[in-house]
Amino acid sequence: MAITESRITSLTAASGARLSLADSPHPDFTDAELAELNAEFERLPASKVIQWAVDNFAPHLAMTASMTDAVLIDLATKVYPAIEVVFIDTGYHFPETLATVEEVRRHYGLNLRMMTVARQSEELWQADPENCCSAVKVGQLDRALAGKEAWMSGLRRGEADTRAAAPIVSRDLRGLVKINPIATWSAADVDAYIADHDIIVNPLTLQGYPSIGCMPCTSPVAEGEDARAGRWRGKDKTECGLHIA
Ligand code: SF4
Repeated sequence: MAITESRITSLTAASGARLSLADSPHPDFTDAELAELNAEFERLPASKVIQWAVDNFAPHLAMTASMTDAVLIDLATKVYPAIEVVFIDTGYHFPETLATVEEVRRHYGLNLRMMTVARQSEELWQADPENCCSAVKVGQLDRALAGKEAWMSGLRRGEADTRAAAPIVSRDLRGLVKINPIATWSAADVDAYIADHDIIVNPLTLQGYPSIGCMPCTSPVAEGEDARAGRWRGKDKTECGLHIA
């Protein structure tokens, strides 16, 4: 593997093939190359994965933020301070989440793109959360990613069984490269990074909400439950659709 300086220019895949990463400012990666990179990224720190994403896709690169904490924002802005951070304001966020957005924005001087939409009717999220998420969250993400080549999120495998096999890099349904730099991190890794780097957290994380979405669809979790067990509790729904690859 050819990682000798901060800018990652190439990797040697397990097959022996050389994957050139920065010959062109916006290289196209085949699905096979992304799969090889994914295997290589399993043993790289998150900052190196972010560096790869920045080297290959910036400025056509964005990252999403749920504002549960600012761990990925801290990691990403250390590599690329101007990275575009997308927050989808559904009209149903907790006041604590909106306060965290503002605190993080000020602290990092964030290049924040707020995707604000008209609040959906209560009937919709109660009767058909699938369509509510699709209209609000997925629709706004599609809009935010128009013109982009890649995007990053803080998705982690340990958050729920449904995320256990999440790749670090893959192609999403839009054809964009999707990067999850902290996919391999455990909850303990996140907690340690927060403590070591004095990272801003949403105060709800200290009140039993390890995963925070819209207010009507998020409840606290009990000891031993998955971090995402409080999302759409009692409904046959586990994902908002943002991370369906
Ligand atoms: S989480 Fe709930 S309120 Fe928010 S977009 Fe999805 S269904 Fe609607």
